[in-house]
Amino acid sequence: MLRAIKKPFSHKPLREYSTRWLEHHLDELTSKIVLFNEKVCFIIGCGATKDLQCGHLLERRHRHTRWDVHPEGNCHAQCPLHNQLHEGQAHIYRTDFVLRFGQSALDELERRARSMGKLTHTELEAMFHARDVITSPRAVKKTA
Ligand SMILES: [Zn+2]
Repeated sequence: MLRAIKKPFSHKPLREYSTRWLEHHLDELTSKIVLFNEKVCFIIGCGATKDLQCGHLLERRHRHTRWDVHPEGNCHAQCPLHNQLHEGQAHIYRTDFVLRFGQSALDELERRARSMGKLTHTELEAMFHARDVITSPRAVKKTA
């Protein structure tokens, strides 16, 4: 009888270098890079330095900005509270983004998010290799 129960999720590992595998690893590498560069919650006045997460200003469904590690880009360190608050109160993150980088930076980011070109598998793979090199233990040097 137990055989009939279906598992809600398949635990089959993702096939290496499949699009989903690349997306998953790019999410991880992006988070590593952002959290290496930023040690305080992005939200002005928060000051939290513990358990920081990689927060996305524009939703992750916008693939052109999902793995953005530009200093004025889409991904920044956020404390768990502010990262969660973002769901319902996106204006907090947006306002602070404009205060830090200016309206033109936000316009530029939104323009990039809405780029019509589709990211190809080759582009994802190239991005993965470039980041994998940056975050390998030998390459990560203490800059401070
Ligand atoms: Zn915070």
